[in-house]
Amino acid sequence: METAGKTTEVATPVKKYTYVFGNGTAEGDKSMKALLGGKGANLAEMSAIGLPVPPGFTISTEACKTYYDLGEQWPEGLAEQVEEGIRHIEEAMGARFGDPDNPLLVSVRSGAAISMPGMMDTVLNLGLNDAAVEGLARRTNNERFAYDAYRRFIDMFGDVVSGVDHHYFEEALEGLKQEVGAKNDVDLTAEHLKELVDRYKAVYRKHKGLMFPDDPREQLALAINAVFKSWNSDRAIKYRQINKITGLLGTAVNVQAMVFGNMGEDSGTGVCFTRNPSTGEHKLYGEFLVNAQGEDVVAGIRTPEPIDKMAELLPQAYRELVETTSLLEKHYKNMQDIEFTVQTGRLFILQTRNGKRTGTAAVKIAVDMVREGLVDKRTAVRDLVEPRHIDQLLHPRFKDEAGYKDKVIAKGLPASPGAAVGKVVFSAEDAEAARDRGEDVILVRIETSPEDVGGMDAAKGILTSRGGMTSHAAVVARGWGKPCVAGCGDIVINYKNKSFTNGQVTVHEGDWISINGSTGEVILGKQALVAPELSGDFATFMSWVDEFRVMKVRTNADTPADAAKAREFGAQGIGLCRTEHMFFEGDRILSMRKMIMASNEKERRAALAELLPYQKEDFLGIFRAMDGLPVTIRLLDPPLHEFLPHDKQGQMEMAEALGLSLAEVKAKVEALSEFNPMLGHRGCRLGITYPEITEMQARAILEAAVELDEEGVTVLPEIMVPLVGTVEELIHQKAVIQRTAEKVFEEKGRRIDYQIGTMIEIPRAALTADEIAREADFFSFGTNDLTQLTFGYSRDDAGRFLPYYVEQKILKDDPFQSIDQTGVGQLIRIGVERGRSTRPLLKVGICGEHGGDPESVHFCYEVGMDYVSCSPFRVPIARLAAAQAYLTAQDRQQDA
Ligand code: PEP
Ligand code: MG
Repeated sequence: METAGKTTEVATPVKKYTYVFGNGTAEGDKSMKALLGGKGANLAEMSAIGLPVPPGFTISTEACKTYYDLGEQWPEGLAEQVEEGIRHIEEAMGARFGDPDNPLLVSVRSGAAISMPGMMDTVLNLGLNDAAVEGLARRTNNERFAYDAYRRFIDMFGDVVSGVDHHYFEEALEGLKQEVGAKNDVDLTAEHLKELVDRYKAVYRKHKGLMFPDDPREQLALAINAVFKSWNSDRAIKYRQINKITGLLGTAVNVQAMVFGNMGEDSGTGVCFTRNPSTGEHKLYGEFLVNAQGEDVVAGIRTPEPIDKMAELLPQAYRELVETTSLLEKHYKNMQDIEFTVQTGRLFILQTRNGKRTGTAAVKIAVDMVREGLVDKRTAVRDLVEPRHIDQLLHPRFKDEAGYKDKVIAKGLPASPGAAVGKVVFSAEDAEAARDRGEDVILVRIETSPEDVGGMDAAKGILTSRGGMTSHAAVVARGWGKPCVAGCGDIVINYKNKSFTNGQVTVHEGDWISINGSTGEVILGKQALVAPELSGDFATFMSWVDEFRVMKVRTNADTPADAAKAREFGAQGIGLCRTEHMFFEGDRILSMRKMIMASNEKERRAALAELLPYQKEDFLGIFRAMDGLPVTIRLLDPPLHEFLPHDKQGQMEMAEALGLSLAEVKAKVEALSEFNPMLGHRGCRLGITYPEITEMQARAILEAAVELDEEGVTVLPEIMVPLVGTVEELIHQKAVIQRTAEKVFEEKGRRIDYQIGTMIEIPRAALTADEIAREADFFSFGTNDLTQLTFGYSRDDAGRFLPYYVEQKILKDDPFQSIDQTGVGQLIRIGVERGRSTRPLLKVGICGEHGGDPESVHFCYEVGMDYVSCSPFRVPIARLAAAQAYLTAQDRQQDA
């Protein structure tokens, strides 16, 4: 302090470096993470809300920093404060450091503000010495346990505090085991362990050049120094560099009482959930063991009792546990998973965290907690149910998910969630025939094509060895909510022998397999299934979800039945109706093939005229199902060869049906074949070269719409032009559609409103979105094609190497599953921004498979899309993800 040019020395008060917790006191709380580290702040918080945590104290990160500032010296006052901390623990536990009768033992742990591997591991049972070990033996009435704890402590302390490598202790252990003929550690008696303690001390002396410290205070000081030092270990420094962690003071040190569940019949240990994690029932669920330590539960040496039994055996501690759990739920606003120990009748909570749960439990707990007034709806929607929980609820699952792991014979992509069981068949016809006989089958194909849809529909599940997350099999199966494992490169399929093999096991036609479309596992044999069950709670929860959602959720649906299903799941319209799927049913395929075989426009128009009534019928059904909601119908997209049979048998049948020669059909198939069918003569390129196809589709859509409008159905058609790369393509198709519309309106003497928009699925379209938007009422991002074109991966064969890429971390995720936000995402942002620069009110959505992926839904919300569109079974998932995206963004805004 300076006064009138003179300096006066003022004694600065000693800084506070330690913060005690437990036994009714808490000097810190969760807001003090920077000072107390993550672990320390958490312990302080638990203690502050009244939880009986084992008492202890935290040495602050500031102490660590000062230690370094002073050249690795303890700052002034730290020694005294540590001593006070110890006294706090001693009083709370009624035990003393080094007491031969009732020894206090502690654990010492490091803990920075950000959890960081590379720093010091835990030291347990600090405080043991030759006298204290006798006290522990008497208290637990278990000499073997006490000496085992002692020898472990010397090993741990030697290794992490004094740098005597663990393997020297291991050598001593192995040596003794051989001498006494013990096969396992558990075969060693108390006498053996006493001998081992002596040998460990000798190991310590030999490598450290010092006696093993037997004064608990010295042990503690050394351990604290070791924690401080570990902050600047090579591993920790490297970790901070790699993860760009800067601005931290140092690590905190947590010193906490050890508690023992093996101190007699009034002690015990257990784990429990505050509610049942499988059903959500509001009742303690868990198990415990009297007179045992945590390891005994984990090691499975003794079978634990159900938690209810504790009410009889340790009534007082049980009552406390029940009270504590409601305290915990009130505070953490979530179901908790707790570890506890009872030491001579006194309950201690060792750890608590949000409990893992099934989908059923998640929804029930969320709804119950709102009803009980523990959380508000906002919190329930944001925190208590994850999108994957909803997924679980909508599909069948295996009864015993853990039990089949040894029967897994291959793994592919989790293409469409849910579990399926059936006999193996290798062709669509066989699948249909088996279904007609009442058998359950799994259709196994190298890949599927539109020709297979009948068989895919007949099968309980689909397995393919080739193809990615947006391959035909994956897209179709997801649309139907049918389990599918795709791109399973582990198996080789032999159609001729009707078998497949993983190199070791061969599965033949008629053998039973089970597939898990949520994990990609292929399992040998028949696994038991549990059917999904949608409770009233599900509807209640989903209604809350919609209260916090601004982005709309539509569905990708091609049939009236799918549309109706999606509407039940809450879809607010159709974002993509792929018209090509309609051409495969019944006689339609013949008319379609006639159209393809036509040698001139007249013939083509004649065939199209046959297709018109079919198309119109489909649209009538879909518009009706979607009364009052918008329906986006995409004009024909796939290359024409997809509609032709590729095998000789099929070609012969087609030639016969159309009165053509086999040679003619063959020649056409060859003429239309492409090296990469996904980049060829498809999308609007078809409609431009054959405008009559667009005309027919536009007519079918608009005739259906006008007729229904007359009936009083509210129809909101949106006609979508696929695969546009230049605005001129859109202008061309738009003119054809508008011309046709005018004709239809004139013929019918009635007009309706309709929109014309385009898909943005070619990078050039995203880049020139300002030009394209001038001509489009809406954009729908086709992220399947946009991803394949941005990466240059073919969506049909990327499954061969993508899993390897993800495994090797060359890619974080499969970009066909979750939007690649850095690359493809940039094109999406550009597309939205440039599009709205010329048409500010442009409606923007997504209809690629990413529309049902929770992370991608968050992204779509961030870039300002009006809606996402996904397969019917993913609609509820997308609804939840959209609500969570909104709530997270709101929270972020509030924080800023
Ligand atoms: C897309 O490309 O994202 C899309 C929805 O269209 P399709 O998958 O039918 O090519
Ligand atoms: Mg596409």
